[in-house]
Amino acid sequence: MSSKKQFETEAIRTQVERSQFLEHSSPMYLTSSFVFEDAEDMRASFAEEKERNIYSRYSNPNSSEFIEKVCKMEGAESGFAFASGMAAVFGTFAALLESGDHIVSAKSVFGSTHTLFTQFFPKWNITTSYFDCNDLDAVEDLISEKTKVIYAESPTNPGVDVLDLERLGHIAKKYNLIFIVDNCFASPYLQQPIKFGADLVIHSGTKLMDGQGRVLAGITVGNYDLVDKIYRFSRITGPTLSPFNAWVLSKSLETLAIRVDRHCDNALQLATYLEQHPKVEWVKYPFLKSHPNYEIAKKQMKLGGCVVAFEVKGGLEAGKKFFDEIEMLSLSANLGDSRSIVTHPASTTHSKLTEEERRSVGISDGMIRVSVGLEHIDDIIADVEQALL
Ligand SMILES: *Cc1c(COP(=O)(O)O)cnc(C)c1O
Repeated sequence: MSSKKQFETEAIRTQVERSQFLEHSSPMYLTSSFVFEDAEDMRASFAEEKERNIYSRYSNPNSSEFIEKVCKMEGAESGFAFASGMAAVFGTFAALLESGDHIVSAKSVFGSTHTLFTQFFPKWNITTSYFDCNDLDAVEDLISEKTKVIYAESPTNPGVDVLDLERLGHIAKKYNLIFIVDNCFASPYLQQPIKFGADLVIHSGTKLMDGQGRVLAGITVGNYDLVDKIYRFSRITGPTLSPFNAWVLSKSLETLAIRVDRHCDNALQLATYLEQHPKVEWVKYPFLKSHPNYEIAKKQMKLGGCVVAFEVKGGLEAGKKFFDEIEMLSLSANLGDSRSIVTHPASTTHSKLTEEERRSVGISDGMIRVSVGLEHIDDIIADVEQALL
């Protein structure tokens, strides 16, 4: 019974060893440390002659279960779980890069990741060059002797651009670079970047993985040797996921496939509705035929994801009116929640970027991002419809 099973089955049946109580559902291991049998056990454990839990900053059964599930979902060898998505992004780069190293990154990345690259990494003499998500021809020109990493997200936040991961994977391989993909917008159910050449995959577990807006979490999975470096750095620096949050997430993953199926179904219906609405300037959703990279999205994703971006005719003022009129959908900064959420990227998640930087990553002042939730689609559309009146 050890052969690899289907995605949904692994998500449910991957479990740490049962305790003496033979519990059906994995218990929470709220303990900061673990005990040793005797002096020899203590010595051998610290010498890493055996694989076991020592201290929850290093590992804990709940985080191990969560990591093992995500590794199976992503087809990864190993992983480390972090307290937030940003801790995963920072911890991954900090563990792998040296002063003087260079990153080649897609221009459109999560707002805090962008701020990390532009405002904090230069402190340690780590520099970043950016390529346009819709111009991968430019990527090779940015690579120098100092380049260590190619970094991308797909679909992007908040513009839902789709990048050809296989093509980026080939470039990374050609120049012997580490290819890192933030796969948060797709979730491992829709897309597995390792298949397309990614060495490491990062997730904010806060989004679709938890899916119910309760906990913050992050995870990096992928190549064993790279993850080992990340583990050695992180067990010292301490950005570890708490056992409680790991337990919540591991449970959430049991329903990931069924939830994401419905998110995507609802999102496609909302996108299709918006596309024919006379007050809507444009709509972007990876599985709409009008999306510039529809073919690539179809090739690398199972479904289109939960995020739809659009702009109301009339720019910023019309956008503001939409936010003031919306009743059921939440005005909030999260995404991938069972509750539908509307966000104004220019004044929230991407407000730290200059207007020029925003324009260059496709964020107009009137752009609205909807994270389509699991409410009945008729109610979601009805709310959007009355707000657009
Ligand atoms: C939310 C998000 C992050 C950061 O995750 P946190 O859990 O909020 O720290 C990183 N990347 C993407 C694409 C995100 O959407």
